Amino acid sequence: MDDEWICGRLGEDEPWMLGAVNPPVFENSVFTFATAGELGEAIRNEDERYVYWRGTNPTVDLVQRKLAALERAERAKCFASGMGAISATISSLVSAGDHVLVLGAVYGPTTQFLRYLEKFGVTHTHVDDLVSCDSAIRESTRLLYFESPSYMRYEVFDIPAVTAWAAERGLVTVMDNTWSTPLFQKPLTMGVDLVVHSLSKYVGGHSDLVGGVVAGPSRLIRPLALTEYQLYGAAMSPHDAAKVIKGLRTLPVRMAAHQERGLAVAQFLDEHPAVRRVNHPGLLSHSGHALAAGQMSGFSSLFSLELDTESREEVAGFIDLLRHFRVGVSWGGFESLVNAPALSTEESVRATMGIPVGLVRLSVGLEPADTLIKDLGLALEGVGRLA
Ligand code: PLP
Repeated sequence: MDDEWICGRLGEDEPWMLGAVNPPVFENSVFTFATAGELGEAIRNEDERYVYWRGTNPTVDLVQRKLAALERAERAKCFASGMGAISATISSLVSAGDHVLVLGAVYGPTTQFLRYLEKFGVTHTHVDDLVSCDSAIRESTRLLYFESPSYMRYEVFDIPAVTAWAAERGLVTVMDNTWSTPLFQKPLTMGVDLVVHSLSKYVGGHSDLVGGVVAGPSRLIRPLALTEYQLYGAAMSPHDAAKVIKGLRTLPVRMAAHQERGLAVAQFLDEHPAVRRVNHPGLLSHSGHALAAGQMSGFSSLFSLELDTESREEVAGFIDLLRHFRVGVSWGGFESLVNAPALSTEESVRATMGIPVGLVRLSVGLEPADTLIKDLGLALEGVGRLA
């Protein structure tokens, strides 16, 4: 199946759509049945049957079918946020006494959630590379969690090597694939058990929704959908599902533009004398470029640059000199954004992830690359004067 067709058309020729080019938003909390027996049967299969909004809904279901197809998964379950998907997924895989291995830098609140689980007797260890996993694994290790490229540092992991290592030891692997989108990387085809995404980034694409998804085999998705999805209650709304459907319609063309503009900006910074380093796996100078090119079919436009400084004031000064980039968290929208973990991430999380003070994250939007390059060039000149 072709990804562009999945994004634009899959599931949209159903008779109930009446030929409409956009699917209806099923705005009801409850679905009714002809008999009590039919209701009982539906409740027993509430992960798939329409009973109550908190279980599922036809508009949300359409998004789930598209995302499952894009990730080459049997099933997908959408959530009210990426963190909703991540916390429910991790919770469904661990019990008191279990241990989780975290490979590389991962999204800050994912680390915070793992710390939170300590009060339920679930522990975790952060490791920087696969070699260190050998000494960090315990009898009680159940799960290996990672992102590739990694959070803020954009290090690339050899996904088939990671999943082979985990499978030999009986561990379940969960990977956050938000950076690449399901278009540019398909972790399930490289042995990952479950893939999670924040849909609030490129997939939504317009900074007008918060959502998440987990995709994988039915044997792992069904129990999660019947338990953690229902009990934590982070259900996606049909209104957000309709926005995700609109986002998917333009995802292939937006990602092509993000890739081109992101790389142009990254190349400019890579050659700039005031920049110590640029972390973008699409650059030939990136240590993981060959690996990335082998396991990804494209590069998104979120990356970081490192200023030669240990001063938070200097980092803030650089950001404040930018005129076009807007200052804010999140990424993957049409608008270019700038943020720095030293100014916005909990200090202990930043240190655990090994993120330098001088690291500045850029999300390159859909504006002309020249505009963004000019903005960055002027700000970097200004930093020289600030120092
Ligand atoms: N994963 C990554 C890599 C993220 O950057 C984020 C949010 O910034 C999330 C997950 C969480 O997604 P959400 O904000 O939709 O809960």
